[in-house]
Amino acid sequence: MDFYVSWSHSDALYSDYFESCPLLISAISRNTYALKRFKKVPLKLIIDSGAVFYAKKNLKYKVKDIFEEQLKLATPLLNKCPITLVHVDEPLLNKKTVSEKFDAVQKTIVNAQEYMNLSKRNSIVQENKLSIMGVIQGYDLPSLRFSIFELQKLGYVKFGIGSLLGKSVDVQIELIKFASELVGAENLHVFGVTGIPQIKEMKNMKIASFDSSRPTKAAIYHQVFYSDPFQTFVIDQSKIDKRQGQRLDAPLACDCPICKINQNDIFNISHRKYTLLRSIHNYYHFSKTINRIIHEEVTSDVISNVLRS
Ligand SMILES: [Zn+2]
Repeated sequence: MDFYVSWSHSDALYSDYFESCPLLISAISRNTYALKRFKKVPLKLIIDSGAVFYAKKNLKYKVKDIFEEQLKLATPLLNKCPITLVHVDEPLLNKKTVSEKFDAVQKTIVNAQEYMNLSKRNSIVQENKLSIMGVIQGYDLPSLRFSIFELQKLGYVKFGIGSLLGKSVDVQIELIKFASELVGAENLHVFGVTGIPQIKEMKNMKIASFDSSRPTKAAIYHQVFYSDPFQTFVIDQSKIDKRQGQRLDAPLACDCPICKINQNDIFNISHRKYTLLRSIHNYYHFSKTINRIIHEEVTSDVISNVLRS
């Protein structure tokens, strides 16, 4: 299972610090040239459509324009790492009535048709290093099933499922499981995951990949992560709401690339440059925790294979 860190132009340059660091980036104009800043090529790249950004800002878009923006963004890394372009969905954000929600599901399918045609015209559909992903959009099990079948009819073989934020852990897991049984867990990416319980469940389901912006967001809110066991603390000097969690007044021992040089940097809340350093520290512990979870899966598989033989 791959963990993609969702990334934008103003975030820390994660892949310069960590060897295997898949990235998810949105095709919005301020990100267009951002990938040129990396010294090291990310291990893998997902370029999403930025649909959530457009929906939040209530901006109109054309599928063709976004597709071209995605290609422009991908250009410097073509054939250097595997790149997946995400089709332009119509997010359920701000859609309140069932009728509005179903319109969004249908619009997502209409867009998927146009997106598939654009991909075929650019001969990228079946290439290994450049592929496309259809976004499954739905608000209940029947609408999810409808969305999946329509995408499959159009020829999509890789899928992403979003719109999970704001739902309870149990509901998120139920929807992910439902989708994975229909498309195959090995073909499914889960957008915007934050919780360790969901990550553990996704590991058990053998989900292909997921993305999270949690290391960056936590750093912005003056939170520091530690692993073994995974813990989140709020920096004690911060004026952030005391209800946000357990507080810590000094850094703990840490082997991350930042703390190895000066561990007080991650506790510095005076300047944005320290927020970036704190993001790197947080990424180190978050990805270490995920790797542990993935490794546990490998171990248990090995044991069960031994028992079977
Ligand atoms: Zn550290």
